[in-house]
Amino acid sequence: MSITGKIHSIETCGTVDGPGIRYVIFSQGCPLRCKYCHNPDTWNISHGQEITVDELIEDIKKYKSYINFSKGGVTLTGGEPLMQPKFAKELFRRCKEEGIHTALDTSGYIPLENVKEVLKYTDLVLLDIKSFDPDLYKDLTGVSNEPTLKMAQYLSDINKPMWVRYVLVPNLTDNPAHIEALANFLSTLTNIEKVEILPFHKMGEYKWEELGYSYSLKNTPTPSAETIEMAKNIFKKYKLKV
Ligand code: SF4
Repeated sequence: MSITGKIHSIETCGTVDGPGIRYVIFSQGCPLRCKYCHNPDTWNISHGQEITVDELIEDIKKYKSYINFSKGGVTLTGGEPLMQPKFAKELFRRCKEEGIHTALDTSGYIPLENVKEVLKYTDLVLLDIKSFDPDLYKDLTGVSNEPTLKMAQYLSDINKPMWVRYVLVPNLTDNPAHIEALANFLSTLTNIEKVEILPFHKMGEYKWEELGYSYSLKNTPTPSAETIEMAKNIFKKYKLKV
């Protein structure tokens, strides 16, 4: 019997979640509550749509020619895809059978034991590190950054290709000392292909309102070009590709 997962939505021509053109699956459910989340409608795992891996693979095959031509693949994002590790593993296992590249976008807030099987079939991890500072991370997400940092170290130990994603939010994650501490940590790892700085935006604000949640970043601006440059330069100083 085909394994079933809970998903929020699918984007068949994604270009921002990994290399090439990608079939992007947004999984349902997330244990974090990031203040800047633009997908708060993915949080509750009891919402969303049930779908089997068979159904997804049948659909993915329709796009295989342009996925392969563009050196793209399938990306599983969320929400937090590792809340459904069996589904993630089976989906990626089947993608690999089809010769399709797999990317996993995760916050890393999951016990490592639950992840190892998924990683066997994962070509690239997009690891979201929201802050290196433990107090700020907790304030920003509601949880600890320890599991995420442990996962980063583990991915380096097994030499799994990784892109680090860092959301740059004025007055929250633009503290140069915090960025520098993260860059310093990342420079000790051996698997990082690049760091992606994602400038904060408020495109998901309306969803918070629709869901009746209070959006605390209403008055936070998007980062200036100078702030983005400042962050880039810190990562570059540590020989990280941005
Ligand atoms: S980890 Fe992603 S989906 Fe979950 S709350 Fe944070 S930004 Fe939203």
